[in-house]
Amino acid sequence: MNMRRSKVIPAAMLLGIAAVIVFAMAQEPGPRGREMPPPKLSDAYVVGGIRHGISYFPRAAYDFVKPKTAGELDFLHYHTYDEVTAILRKWADAYPNIVDLYSVGKSFEGRDIWQITITNKSTGKDTDKPAMFIEGNRHSGEVTAAESALWFAWHILGGYGQDPALTKLVDTKAIYVRVKNNPDGSELYLNTAQSNRSTVRPYDDDRDGLLDEDPPEDLDGDGFILQVRKKVEPGKGSMTIDPADPSGRLMKRAEAGKGDYTVTSEGLDNDGDGRVNEDGIGGLDLHRNYPENWRPMPGRDLTGRGFTQGGAGEYPLSEPETRAVFTFLLEHPNVSVVQTMDTTVPMLLHGPSTSRMSESMFPEDMKIYRYFDEQGKTITGYADAGDTYWDYANLGRADRDMRARAAEMGFEIPREPEGQPLFGHSPDFGYLYYGAVWYGDELWNGGRAKDYDGDGRVTDLENLRYIDEELGGRYFKPWTKFTHPKLGEVEIGGFNPKFWRQNPPVEILEEWIKKEALFNLFLAQSLPQVKIVSAGIKPVKKEADTFEIVAVFSNEGFLPTALKMADRVKIVRPDAVSVRLPAGAELASGVRVRQDIGFIQQNEKKEIRWKVKIKPGTAGQAEVSISSTRGGVARTAVKIG
Ligand SMILES: [Zn+2]
Repeated sequence: MNMRRSKVIPAAMLLGIAAVIVFAMAQEPGPRGREMPPPKLSDAYVVGGIRHGISYFPRAAYDFVKPKTAGELDFLHYHTYDEVTAILRKWADAYPNIVDLYSVGKSFEGRDIWQITITNKSTGKDTDKPAMFIEGNRHSGEVTAAESALWFAWHILGGYGQDPALTKLVDTKAIYVRVKNNPDGSELYLNTAQSNRSTVRPYDDDRDGLLDEDPPEDLDGDGFILQVRKKVEPGKGSMTIDPADPSGRLMKRAEAGKGDYTVTSEGLDNDGDGRVNEDGIGGLDLHRNYPENWRPMPGRDLTGRGFTQGGAGEYPLSEPETRAVFTFLLEHPNVSVVQTMDTTVPMLLHGPSTSRMSESMFPEDMKIYRYFDEQGKTITGYADAGDTYWDYANLGRADRDMRARAAEMGFEIPREPEGQPLFGHSPDFGYLYYGAVWYGDELWNGGRAKDYDGDGRVTDLENLRYIDEELGGRYFKPWTKFTHPKLGEVEIGGFNPKFWRQNPPVEILEEWIKKEALFNLFLAQSLPQVKIVSAGIKPVKKEADTFEIVAVFSNEGFLPTALKMADRVKIVRPDAVSVRLPAGAELASGVRVRQDIGFIQQNEKKEIRWKVKIKPGTAGQAEVSISSTRGGVARTAVKIG
């Protein structure tokens, strides 16, 4: 951490401490609707790292995070780190022949980042098999991604030995599952009212030289950072109650000069800079920390004329969580398919992120990505699929609601489609550096549940109706009177930011995690798989003691044994075939034991011949084998004599 040395730090520290004291004093337990007293340190959730702001928060005991039965997996709640750890341990104990549990490194706060390998150990090592890597919860609040990775593993393990396709998958492939890439951020999200982008490493979001000095406060102690609306004189505010909503819960941007409400985020201005909640815990983005197309953070391009990337980190792979993905994958080049999940759109999302597919992808590889996009849409029902630079950037361009919501958040979605670059983004590392099929799918629809009037759009009014009628009103907090220390009489309320906007309600969680997991299963079942179609020996006419071992090799997987990009960046070696001969047999002169055969497309056949000299009376077995970095290995015996 490189804190900038400036004369304001002591003051900021003082301010931070002062804020806590004020907080404490101002929060004498008073009448209902007043602020919550600060937590006793012993009960508090403490966040690692040295920062100018507060590092401990009241615990939020969310029902959404409570299991039906303690210690049991159920997809009607979001699993905490300890629960996931216990479940992975249970699986490793229950399935010793097909599950390995290990830590791939420590998070910023020192938690083990757990991972499992699912493969039948008796059919070969994981590293000898075509493999898929799947992970979730890199972004702290996108806890649905962890649940989908958990469901994926649970489904495969549950089907092993029962379901032939799942059994074959485990017998022939290796599946690496990292349920929580970023346990620190995920735990902060599930155990306090706070939320942040990813790592909790202190970060100066608003570039005022202070780190994490102004997080939000859960003033009313309901566990969520909601909206604060205040009735003001007409024209003094920018918002008003949406007349379309008879219940008076929905707020909308008012015409200029007509607003009679202000709507702000729940919290205080801790550093007196006139803004509220502008620099909470952390702020770096683990998804901008990859080495491919990495760019420095704002203010670090000394020309001021290049591109920069918010949250990128001090340097590529500066964050242990991202480094733990990079290192694992480079040490396991047998992985040719990766899924690293997020929320929300929903969308099947991949690279490139600084140019269009047609500009940076080999046509053959692009064809594969497009095929998976279409299959994925069929399997998941998502409307959108495509690249980050263009397709993702132009989402919602035609969607009036999206544009309205963007406008409410103060930014304008231009009408004309244009590309938006993202730097240090994992899908770029995934394809351009690692030569793989790499998805970063966006799960959940951000709380656009049901289009009651069938006009192709889902408005917040329809969302309110859905929450009222289908979910007992549980995901919209009715506006509740509150005495705000600065604003006086206000109301706190709004849509649930965590389990409506950013993640699905627990009642429909499994539906969402399952459909994504079934797409990932489809990807896993598309892995390449080399095989020896036939291998035999026959005499060579008119040459004494001379025979030919003839073998035909193929690939029974959908994916080729390597994408074009994988070959270009040499993350894979050409597939190679070899023969091993028994005593009494030797290769004819000039014939090589090992022959590189390039790469094999689906069902393509490659015939290889080895001319051999065999002494009369020789009896034994030759072994023919094929080894492919990403297509696996196969061996067979050829009887001699
Ligand atoms: Zn994300």
